[in-house]
Amino acid sequence: MSGHDAPLLFERSRAGRRAARPPRVDGPPVEELLAGAALREVAPKLPEVSELDLVRHFTQLAHRQFSIDGNVYPLGSCTMKYNPKVHEDAAMLFADLHPYQDPESAQGILSLLGGLQHDLEVLTGMDEVTLQPAAGAHGELAGMLMIRAYHRAAGEDAQRRIVIVPDAAHGTNPATASMVGYDVVEVPTGPNGEMDVAAFEAALSPEVAAVMLTNPSTLGIFESQIRRIADAAHAVGAQLYYDGANLNAIVGKARPGDMGFDVVHLNLHKTFTTPHGGGGPGTGPVGVKEHLAPYLPAPVLTHGDDGWRWDEDRPRSIGRMRSYYGNVGNLVRAYAYIRTLGLDGLRDVAEKAVLNANYLRVRMAEQGYPSAYDRSCMHEFVARPPEGLRTLDVAKALLDEGMHPMTVYFPLVVKEAMMVEPTETESLESLDAYAEALGRIRELAVADPEAFAAAPRTTPVRRLDEVAAARRPVLRWSPETHEAISGREDEAG
Ligand SMILES: *Cc1c(COP(=O)(O)O)cnc(C)c1O
Repeated sequence: MSGHDAPLLFERSRAGRRAARPPRVDGPPVEELLAGAALREVAPKLPEVSELDLVRHFTQLAHRQFSIDGNVYPLGSCTMKYNPKVHEDAAMLFADLHPYQDPESAQGILSLLGGLQHDLEVLTGMDEVTLQPAAGAHGELAGMLMIRAYHRAAGEDAQRRIVIVPDAAHGTNPATASMVGYDVVEVPTGPNGEMDVAAFEAALSPEVAAVMLTNPSTLGIFESQIRRIADAAHAVGAQLYYDGANLNAIVGKARPGDMGFDVVHLNLHKTFTTPHGGGGPGTGPVGVKEHLAPYLPAPVLTHGDDGWRWDEDRPRSIGRMRSYYGNVGNLVRAYAYIRTLGLDGLRDVAEKAVLNANYLRVRMAEQGYPSAYDRSCMHEFVARPPEGLRTLDVAKALLDEGMHPMTVYFPLVVKEAMMVEPTETESLESLDAYAEALGRIRELAVADPEAFAAAPRTTPVRRLDEVAAARRPVLRWSPETHEAISGREDEAG
């Protein structure tokens, strides 16, 4: 039986089977201890399975999961690079620490976190870094709250209502700006794939609180006018926010702080190899220039005569963004990565990421998938499918090749966008294999359009009814919901 059609846990259930038995405890019976009220009257409907059934269930589920450990995963903007396994050992060194432990007895982890803060300050060109935020979007929220606090302190909060974002921006940028209470103004992309600087300058005014940019942009194109953009933003008193999700293109080579940015968030789960996917756990440190440091989330990690400690006395802080020390396991992994590679190694990462992206860009163009912008790219690029084909169909056909699709239909400024980011950890052979798979798919689309439109055939679920999934989500498996969902798949064909 293949992993795909294996029975799930409830279907394996047989009355009386057990995977584990709790130890016997001497003392009064549980009914007495819980004194009635808290006791269930009806036993919960839990699956009853043997230990081996349980192990098979989870192993087979794990094999359904597509992962970077399994195959190439060039999801644009997501930087799906290999997570070195040795980092797991490093993270486990700190697994026994308790979040309520006295800082005096946790000096080891605190000095590591202090070291990581320092390294991220150096890499971004920022004066201070907080490790609290638990994702990129969470970092954006922290950064934009600091910008708002800064304008408020200057008595300009009522006047500054606008945040400018380019139309190619990641959706979290405008979402964050509006969560913080700003109105979003979009600036178009120019014909060369860079932000239209004239349109940008026309949108600037003393009402602008901030400009959110990523550089290189989500089109994989470096904003060559960044210094002019920064000067123009600062001239009207706006703050410049750097979405650091694309740092893989420039890490060790260029620094947002030197480009003129005031705030930076980083995605440790992208550039710095901490695990990523399935919704978490992310980690989104934020760096700021000195004028924003008073607003950093509290407490702030500081070092003095008494060693490392948390400074809670931060009267202008935006407050706490995350409980305890943040996602410590990921912070340790990121630190291990930085310290293993060193500055030269990180520079090499950026160079190979850019080289790999350009190689695949050219190889894909040879297979009939031209770039949206005919110029060399940074760590990623946006291509289009061959004339007459839909990106969605190509993406589904890639699944049957055992490969993960690129990011599709984003950025919105390119029709049928295919956004590809191979990362530096893919080999020449896997890049060639990806381009060749796309070539086969183009041939299949011509030779057998029906088979092409019916892909994927080899995955646990076929084409999903995304509208039904959004409108009538079924979030918990049970025998009843299983039947309902199977029925739905039949409806969708
Ligand atoms: C991934 C990403 C984000 C959001 O980061 P999360 O950690 O997923 O919240 C923001 N901007 C860009 C460009 C990204 O690629």
